[in-house]
Amino acid sequence: MCAIVGVINSKDAAKTAYYALFAMQHRGQEASGISACDENGKIRTIKDRGLVTEVFGKDSFDVLKGDMAIGHNRYATAGSDSLLDAQPVTANYALGSISVVHNGNFVNKDEVRDALIEEGAIFGSNMDTENIVHLIAQHKSKSLKERIIYALSKVLGAYCLLIQSRHKTFAIRDRYGVRPLSLGRLKDGGYIVASETCAFDLVEAEFIRDINPGEMVIFERGSNEIRSEQIFTPDPRICAFEYIYFARPDSVIEGKNVYEIRQNMGRVLAQKSKIEADFVIPVPDSGVAAALGYAKQSGLPFEAAIVRNHYVGRTFIEPTQELRNLKVKLKLNPMSSVLKGKSVVVVDDSIVRGTTSKKIVELLRHAGVNKVHFRVACPELKFPERYGIDTPSFAELISANKNVEQVREYIGADSLEFLSIDELKTALGNERNYSLVSFDGDYFIK
Ligand code: AMP
Repeated sequence: MCAIVGVINSKDAAKTAYYALFAMQHRGQEASGISACDENGKIRTIKDRGLVTEVFGKDSFDVLKGDMAIGHNRYATAGSDSLLDAQPVTANYALGSISVVHNGNFVNKDEVRDALIEEGAIFGSNMDTENIVHLIAQHKSKSLKERIIYALSKVLGAYCLLIQSRHKTFAIRDRYGVRPLSLGRLKDGGYIVASETCAFDLVEAEFIRDINPGEMVIFERGSNEIRSEQIFTPDPRICAFEYIYFARPDSVIEGKNVYEIRQNMGRVLAQKSKIEADFVIPVPDSGVAAALGYAKQSGLPFEAAIVRNHYVGRTFIEPTQELRNLKVKLKLNPMSSVLKGKSVVVVDDSIVRGTTSKKIVELLRHAGVNKVHFRVACPELKFPERYGIDTPSFAELISANKNVEQVREYIGADSLEFLSIDELKTALGNERNYSLVSFDGDYFIK
């Protein structure tokens, strides 16, 4: 996943970038970094493994001076979780210094990297983002813009990119607009570009608009003018999973509030079948909005009967299966005083490997629940995502290997229902196309 932010023409740009990254911590917890560019065009970078608050301290901002900055929170979808793979990626090349941040995934990264190595390039990381820097350096044009367009003509994939040079910042979104990227205005007149609008709320920036699929926006130091170029023909397909799971509920993506869309998903789920139950409970926090929508639609009461320990990270972050199990137990505690002897509808946003849902059903039974009706606010995940979401291989995706009845049996629920793809589209709003690759296997970026 990852979060990116760019701040242009604003005093203490790095501090604003820091707060924006703080607001977008949910998009990546492995590493964080900021590159600031001062008035003399000197770029300084601080990056490390860890959360935003762990990577930056008070002293960081004595170093990160300047009115331009870009930043990144990392969630490894390509490369590894080593420090070498933290962003921004900075480099010196024929026209000066640049730093780059990237959210997304290049599907032809290995071919591009192999070709670059063949031609003599030396790589300092495992990241697909480094390909972009090499391609920019390789081209002979005197214009950075032309070099960037050349680099992008060589790569295929889903990307939102911010590229900062001595005097300019380029914001680019791939032609499908798979990942979100929005533009806002800061109170001091500067601009901010961020993966999610929840970052604007924190720094009191005013939302202007989303960067369009296939668009390049160019910001220049000292200028209020922004230039926009449609560098690729747009074919919008925002990733449905941004609405289902990834984005913060208070973000607005492509004009749609994530919280409301999640409630719609719950409403549509409730319309599928009528369940006799005492109440609806969410899997916190990912299932809260959908469970609320379910409760409103079904007329069943809503109970926050599973309590979450907020000081444990998301269950996916740990790499080994053994720890993942432990983390579910550490994270969620069903209240038996509320649940004992009851029939409940449990709503979560998704089932990926089935680890979380199986544990939750187990915990609910242990708390004395009578009947567990598990409802999932998205379709069955049958295909690995390749456009920037960390979903596992076919072998690990439970719905790629088991039908609904078999999954129900595996997780131990009394009943189980998913949204169908059409129902998901209804909840999202049918007026536009979405990237639904996890559900329908349509790998449209080839
Ligand atoms: P699993 O336990 O493997 O079935 O994963 C499902 C749980 O992980 C759900 O509670 C989701 O909220 C959450 N989840 C879904 N997709 C992702 C993802 N790409 N990264 C991290 N967590 C996820």
